[in-house]
Amino acid sequence: MNNIKKNILNDYDNQKEYMDRIKERNDVFFNKFGIRRKYMILTYGCQMNEHDSERMEGLLGNIGYETTSDLKEADLIIFNTCLVRENAELKVYGKLGELKQLKKDNPNLIIAVCGCMPQKEEVRDYITKKYRHVDLVFGTHNYYKLPEMIESKTQTNNRVVDVWEDGEDLIEGMPAKRKYGYKAFINIMKGCNNFCTYCIVPYTRGRERSRLPEDILGEIMKLAKEGCKEVTLLGQNVNSYGKSLESKVSFAQLLYMINDIEGIRRIRFMTSHPKDLSDELIDAMKNCKKVVEHLHLPFQSGSSRILKKMNRKYGKEQYLVLVEKIKKAIPDISLTTDIIVGFPGETDEDFEDTLDVVKKVGFDSAFTFLYSIRTGTPAAEMKDQIPDDIKHERFDKLLATINSISAKINQDMIGRTFEVLVENISKNDKSMLSGRTRSFKLVHFKGPKELIGKFANVKITKTKTWFLEGEMVQR
Ligand code: SF4
Repeated sequence: MNNIKKNILNDYDNQKEYMDRIKERNDVFFNKFGIRRKYMILTYGCQMNEHDSERMEGLLGNIGYETTSDLKEADLIIFNTCLVRENAELKVYGKLGELKQLKKDNPNLIIAVCGCMPQKEEVRDYITKKYRHVDLVFGTHNYYKLPEMIESKTQTNNRVVDVWEDGEDLIEGMPAKRKYGYKAFINIMKGCNNFCTYCIVPYTRGRERSRLPEDILGEIMKLAKEGCKEVTLLGQNVNSYGKSLESKVSFAQLLYMINDIEGIRRIRFMTSHPKDLSDELIDAMKNCKKVVEHLHLPFQSGSSRILKKMNRKYGKEQYLVLVEKIKKAIPDISLTTDIIVGFPGETDEDFEDTLDVVKKVGFDSAFTFLYSIRTGTPAAEMKDQIPDDIKHERFDKLLATINSISAKINQDMIGRTFEVLVENISKNDKSMLSGRTRSFKLVHFKGPKELIGKFANVKITKTKTWFLEGEMVQR
């Protein structure tokens, strides 16, 4: 263990003193009024934020708070924010504005803004000046200090603004409130070193840092004992896992270790950067029976020229060769991707290259994005921004191409039987259950709700645009 990590651990240990005090106060409140103080966390953006929110929920649960989905009854409201898309940022501003009255009605209400937005100085300044009713402002590196910040606000009534530019924030041992018992997201690393020119993440989450394998394995073993069946390993670029560790362990080696954990039946991971996807990793995906046949492999653009402008460090041909290699090793692989349309300077020919990659690879599905300027990134300064109408035209064409490929792939699944991890009652039809195949396809079928959290074999009978329908069968 290095010194920096030790200091941080001590720092987290220091939180226990604040946690004890808050818990004592909240218990007194409960004993007096028969209700618990409540919190609500609104999470925007990626799985990383979801994961950080789970940790904050774990902390709050340990200090006598209870969750609520009604803003009006909350004593503590936390916005865990995202800077990747402008839309998410605007939503936060809108909600913060709405809370002004709530704060007037209840001056004891604590409102916090954390996550990626405060990491950017201009955004942080804007929030603190424009929204005077916000009490706590902190970033992505020090959310574990939430108890200390709540205590400071409660004791002094002063606003707390505590944002770190970067940090060795690999805190182990924090509690987490998991949404599901049967599946869990596991952060295996934080930050990113890649600086894709359109992306704000390296500026908000800092440089890449990997957790120690023994910490990851310990967390997963504990989850497995508690009944967890599926883990999703998270990182901005999981393929470079281990590079920041003193004793180098590759992501492939980590997969082999997790594959040996009893009770875990499925291993997923995301996100994979194509430039770091090694032969060793392809072998591990093939050899580890618990690693599912699904790979999310963002290609962003099919044009090597645009990829260079994006600083992605691979070209069209390299991506296609990689996909061929993966398909050869794992013929059943389901591939999904991210694509940006209308990156600065994108010509019709560049866009045709994107369509060409989509057709050649045959993605099961794709997250498609219209390029939007993110201030503070190099691409925002590029002169040759694409007019909105052209972006939209290309976007529609891309979506139509992806949808038709995806429909064909889904059609070919009819009549075949797949193992489904049952996750929920279907949102569209309450008489149906919904779950995912190993290849991440959403399947709806009729069955008893006792199956939630368990596996079922489902024969596919129908395909819809966004999901499949089927019937339960015995194998
Ligand atoms: S790999 Fe690129 S897109 Fe992904 S988080 Fe890092 S900088 Fe952003």
